[in-house]
Amino acid sequence: MKIWQCSVCGYKYDGDEPPEKCPKCGAPKEKFVELSADQAQLVQRARKSNNLHIALNSLLEQVLDVAAQGIEDNLDPGCLIVFKNAQEQAWKLRQMSLAEIATHVAKGKWS
Ligand SMILES: [Zn+2]
Repeated sequence: MKIWQCSVCGYKYDGDEPPEKCPKCGAPKEKFVELSADQAQLVQRARKSNNLHIALNSLLEQVLDVAAQGIEDNLDPGCLIVFKNAQEQAWKLRQMSLAEIATHVAKGKWS
């Protein structure tokens, strides 16, 4: 599969041929350039990693939700320690993951 990039806005398109016009900025087909095999491989690699971060974030949201319910439930001090700890760790991991995604975006690894 070839990857084409709009030279005007950076939009990436997967296909044998570039689209008639850029879905993002409306630039014509001629403005698309094909990425080299190396560039295309890097894009695929970054997509995989970004998807893993998205999956992780969605799981952490669930942990935060369960932890909040556990804290609300407040059966005994032991439970509270577990749920508060879960909340703290999930929050920390989520912030780390979001920061990592932000560095990918800054380096142009998000595609
Ligand atoms: Zn464009």
